[in-house]
Amino acid sequence: AMVATRASEERGTAQQVDVAVVGAGFSGLYLLHRLRKAGFSAVALEEAGDVGGTWYWNRYPGARCDIQTIDYSYTFDPELETAWTWSEKYATQPEILRYLGFVADRYDLRRDIRFKTKVTEARWDEKAERWLITTDNGPPVSCRHYIMATGCLSAPKPPEIEGVKEFKGEVYFTGRWPHGGVDLKGKRVAVIGTGSSAIQSIPLIAEQAAHLTVFQRTPNFALPAHNGPAPSDRMSLLKSDRAAYREQARQSMAGVPYPQQTVVSWQLSDAERRERFERAWAAGDLVHILTQLWADQAVDVDGNKIVQDLIREKIRAAVRDPETAAALMPDDHPFGAKRPCLDTNYYATYNRPNVTLVNLRQEPIKAITASGISTSSRSFDLDVIVFATGFDAMTGAIRAVHPITGRDGRSLTDVWAQGPQTYLGLTVEGFPNFFMITGPGSPSVLSNMAVSIEQHVDWVVDRLAALRDAGFTTIEPTETAQAGWSRHMADCSMLTLHRLANTWYTGANVPGKVQGLMPYTGGVGPYRSICDEVVSRGMLGFKLT
Ligand code: FAD
Repeated sequence: AMVATRASEERGTAQQVDVAVVGAGFSGLYLLHRLRKAGFSAVALEEAGDVGGTWYWNRYPGARCDIQTIDYSYTFDPELETAWTWSEKYATQPEILRYLGFVADRYDLRRDIRFKTKVTEARWDEKAERWLITTDNGPPVSCRHYIMATGCLSAPKPPEIEGVKEFKGEVYFTGRWPHGGVDLKGKRVAVIGTGSSAIQSIPLIAEQAAHLTVFQRTPNFALPAHNGPAPSDRMSLLKSDRAAYREQARQSMAGVPYPQQTVVSWQLSDAERRERFERAWAAGDLVHILTQLWADQAVDVDGNKIVQDLIREKIRAAVRDPETAAALMPDDHPFGAKRPCLDTNYYATYNRPNVTLVNLRQEPIKAITASGISTSSRSFDLDVIVFATGFDAMTGAIRAVHPITGRDGRSLTDVWAQGPQTYLGLTVEGFPNFFMITGPGSPSVLSNMAVSIEQHVDWVVDRLAALRDAGFTTIEPTETAQAGWSRHMADCSMLTLHRLANTWYTGANVPGKVQGLMPYTGGVGPYRSICDEVVSRGMLGFKLT
């Protein structure tokens, strides 16, 4: 009774809306726009001081997208598309942030966003059929529907190394880079990590620093970006038939408009394979090289090994010191089973006299001390440590809201104790009127996320409108549907090589995190068809009341 009283009191002072959105990045912005157009009252709650999400937080030197920007954009409004022109093939973080600000202004979104407001808790009130959302700043929000647009890569992973607090120098995280930038000139700098953010920032840090020491646990495959103006062949495809170009992306496997490759590696001679590879390497396009070489590269270890060998050959040629080159060559995962990175001078940076690579597989870090970092065999005196150690991906930001309490007082953390369980990566059984944008179980990080975000937002807002128009007040997936989705996820993952790598896709980068492949590997186009079929078959797998 106490709890019920507290809940109703809080509801009394709460901001009342139809829908509460958490997050004002790519997802949250588009959600607000669509919800308003569908006639819902909505508020977005955002921890940051402004819009942008990923592109608000990640201001490290060299931060860029690695899907071509003409593809990594909103497509819901053709007028928006022609109102904005990207300056480069891969835009920088400041330009993408400007774009998201432009979108927020164009659709007047900021007036419904509460910035500097972190959501701390969410409770489903069974009687009222509403969620009560608690924040750290301002009144709670009472809403019919609760949508987490909190991002797959938004919860930076805390450092796992002892002694960070002892260090007397400066400490930075790529995912929380200071807005004013950092002056590294003349300093002895360490970068810990060699994932995407590290690979983008290392060449620029090396240009400034007196000395840069890179601490590497696992090497990644990196492919040349060949950044510059947007390629004319892609631009003319887009301009000749914008609608068809966008539709091809929506139906594709990765959310980028390329055809399905059908030729298999053994139909090609060595020379033909090399020719294809060299063309792809020169194109400077991640998705091209991931999907267009030969059909078996992503599904068969032998077809994949051919690509790996060709890339390792490129690394050997780029890095002068053979020992450094060897340390930079990934050998523990199939190409593409872990997200490959885009390289702008990355490998070449190791030829600089002021750059040292430390291979942590040979000499693990023992501790961070007052003056620097010591490994099992050496000590490094440092002025600055940069953590490029990645994110608690896909579930980190969702689980950070704690508790999220659904039906019968069950908390999402408990329900997910053995790993995330979802239906379509969008909804969870026992959590009515709760949605996730690009949640675990959807293509999410295995896709061009701009395309996946639009698909999720459209699907959710269309469902909410249909629900309202039919007089329903709650929607929730059935236990059977959720179990079926898990099985389908598992079946799909048996067809790709992702299961053969321990990565942030599987939770392997976070100590103690339950292991399992979190994104849906069946592809963006097939996934969209499934979501549409769920609707056309009378909301298959959902219970509406
Ligand atoms: P985010 O942009 O992460 O926004 C989520 C927002 O929710 C954040 O602003 C966060 O502050 C807020 N939030 C989270 N929890 C709470 C809470 N409890 N209370 C209040 N607010 C909260 N994807 C691609 O497809 N192509 C790329 O090239 C690409 N490049 C990337 C480069 C980097 C450096 C990174 C980190 C990611 C990249 N991504 C890329 C993935 C990128 O995250 C998505 O493309 C997209 O920006 C996600 O948008 P979002 O709105 O879903 O999430």
